[in-house]
Amino acid sequence: MLEGKLALVTGASRGIGRAIAIELAKAGAEVIINYLGSEKKAIEVKDQITSLGKKAHLLRFDVSNSEDVKKAIKNIEENIGQIHILVNNAGITRDNLFVRMKEEDWEAVLRTNLFSAFYVTQAVLPMMLKVRWGRIINISSVVAFTGNPGQVNYASAKAGLIGFTKALSLEVAGRNITVNAIAPGYIETDMTEKLPEKVKEAFLQEIPLKRAGLPEEVAHLSVFLASDLASYITGTVFHINGGLYRG
Ligand code: NDP
Repeated sequence: MLEGKLALVTGASRGIGRAIAIELAKAGAEVIINYLGSEKKAIEVKDQITSLGKKAHLLRFDVSNSEDVKKAIKNIEENIGQIHILVNNAGITRDNLFVRMKEEDWEAVLRTNLFSAFYVTQAVLPMMLKVRWGRIINISSVVAFTGNPGQVNYASAKAGLIGFTKALSLEVAGRNITVNAIAPGYIETDMTEKLPEKVKEAFLQEIPLKRAGLPEEVAHLSVFLASDLASYITGTVFHINGGLYRG
């Protein structure tokens, strides 16, 4: 389905990004695995993709640092090729009640979850414009729509990604580039593992499907959006949350 396509997945060493990288590769894409701190885990993702007989590359860069991003994307263009599929997935949380939230935690979350989409997409877009085909998928969150106490920074960043998706989709639609967002609910990864048990139980009570989602379930939606099957879908948000929030 994605043969001949080169995909960059940010934050692909763990969790949802890891699953997206693997599923894109299974669907035929050549994949660039971006990571920051988890080198060993990123190597495991690469090994898993290679063992499927598919091509993968590792690229360490900090999505929240514009110079780092520019250098990395230049490196891809010179040494690997033109990117067709970009998944802006890397993200962090730094939770605290708003009255106690430190400016550095506000800034880190905005930089990593939102500024990163500006840096990476702006660096990658010229390649898509050149080949007149592109897929940009931004990983937002259900909390962009519902809010969540302790996550004013994170909800702001994830809501920002929705506006980013809608506005950019209008600018690039004429070049056959689609831009969509995925808003996952509670997905089993390291990010949610660190939540207090009480919070996890409360989430599960509220989910009509009565379970957390799996990274692979988000990855399957990403593969669809990256493919030609989704050629008429742009500027849209996809909710994947077991019925927790229904748009
Ligand atoms: P994890 O914490 O499991 O993984 C986060 C990934 O992001 C890691 O691969 C990490 O790389 C990478 N990353 C973090 N900061 C940077 C950075 N500055 N530069 C490059 N890579 C970075 O998170 P999830 O898999 O749970 O989340 C993935 C995305 O999905 C995030 O955007 C998150 O906000 C969103 N999401 C998650 C939900 C969930 O329930 N899990 C729900 C809704 C949205 P490394 O370890 O190598 O540093």
